[in-house]
Amino acid sequence: MEITLYILLFVLFFFVSFALTEMRIFFILPKSFFIIPAIIFITISLLHIFGRIDAIAFAIITLSLIILSFIIYREFISKILNFKLELKYIKDKISENTEEDEEKTPSTDISEERRKKIGIPELSKELEEIFYTILKTRKEVKEKLVSADKHEKFIIYLTNFIRYSITETDRYKLFREVGNFLEYILPQNEIGIAIFEKSPEEKIITETEKREKIKIIKGEEFLSKIIDRIEKGTIDEEKEYTSFALSNGEKYGFIVVRGELDANKKNLLYLTSKLTEAILKRIETEEELKIKAITDPLTGIYNRRYFMARLEQNFSKYRRTQKNYVVAIFDIDKFKSINDKYGHTVGDEILKKFSFILKQNVRGYDIPARFGGDEFVLLLDEIEKEESLSVIRRITGKFSLYQELKAILGESPTVSWGLCAVKEADSNYEEIIKVADKRLIKAKHLGGNQGVWE
Ligand code: GH3
Ligand code: MG
Repeated sequence: MEITLYILLFVLFFFVSFALTEMRIFFILPKSFFIIPAIIFITISLLHIFGRIDAIAFAIITLSLIILSFIIYREFISKILNFKLELKYIKDKISENTEEDEEKTPSTDISEERRKKIGIPELSKELEEIFYTILKTRKEVKEKLVSADKHEKFIIYLTNFIRYSITETDRYKLFREVGNFLEYILPQNEIGIAIFEKSPEEKIITETEKREKIKIIKGEEFLSKIIDRIEKGTIDEEKEYTSFALSNGEKYGFIVVRGELDANKKNLLYLTSKLTEAILKRIETEEELKIKAITDPLTGIYNRRYFMARLEQNFSKYRRTQKNYVVAIFDIDKFKSINDKYGHTVGDEILKKFSFILKQNVRGYDIPARFGGDEFVLLLDEIEKEESLSVIRRITGKFSLYQELKAILGESPTVSWGLCAVKEADSNYEEIIKVADKRLIKAKHLGGNQGVWE
């Protein structure tokens, strides 16, 4: 009789707890909480078997039963239910895609519609083709993969990876994602990824002085040993490694895979590298556009627009911190006549040389820029006026020592300048420019080849 009651209660409590879980009442409790009543339940059951049991113990048992049934539900039944639902979802998604893929051949014509559907912004033609190839490959891979779990992961990795082609502009993150993806599709192989690092600073100053550094993203140990061989192109692709130099006229980096690869995997590796390459091209183009927007094309230093934006920022900082900065405006003396006598090419060379000297003789957080024509401007940050004068004199001194030009002109080119500290002109952010410019004009009136700072 008692045993039947226990069984009935168990079933009842099981359903009560099932309902409560559905209402998400128990979800806030930590798992470990349920261990305690489970132990009590076992202890009391043993007491019942070997001796007598009273009403309080009975209540404790029933309470424990509720909790225990909840654990059973949560740990086993819900998992099975969820798993089945997820499986159905994935299957539905796949058949949706397959139908679409079959009824429409991947061509760029349908891209508009497709893009709208998936919510992808403009893709380059090249990227678009790769995107479709990936979709097709996914279909093929789907047929080969038996485990739903594996399939699901594959799709997640692939989706993450493709997402980078649309949203990310950080090439380190991109390569880490490439690494994760390759590790997943090629679990038996060793993966190595390296890229050629270029600092944006170097890009701004001059193209010829660009330095390349190799940065290893994945597979440090084995890559560092074979980098020489990769660069010389002497790795044995058939037996040892398969590698891809990612290029857009120049090298970006490489992916090296060590170990056996069948034709399918080689294909996937090829696709991955092609997709990566397309994403890199886009990142590079975006970066170039950003740099172009702030750079003066002739001299490679910042342009007026960028300078003014930074000046405004600096002014706000000054308002908060009261840290002084100075602005100097330079104008090359008798530049017109140099142009007239020796031609614009010589004139251009002078402008480039002055920019180079300007850039080389200031700190990273100072802002040198071409203001227009033969006028240059320099913001020296967190500096007092007296100290700034020696920086300016160093710059003009170096310019007058420009020997190559001295040989052509028979004399050194000279420059005049006007300088102002923010403390002297802080009614608004442009005031400092106006005062510095007035002082420059004064320097010109005094005969040029000198500076005015008061
Ligand atoms: P001053 O001593 O009073 O400054 O006389 P200046 O001859 O230098 O007079 P100004 O600064 O007005 O002359 C600027 C000249 O710079 C006029 C223009 O022909 C020349 N110029 C402007 N941009 C360029 C350029 O990109 N390349 C070359 N070669 N010349 C330029
Ligand atoms: Mg001039």
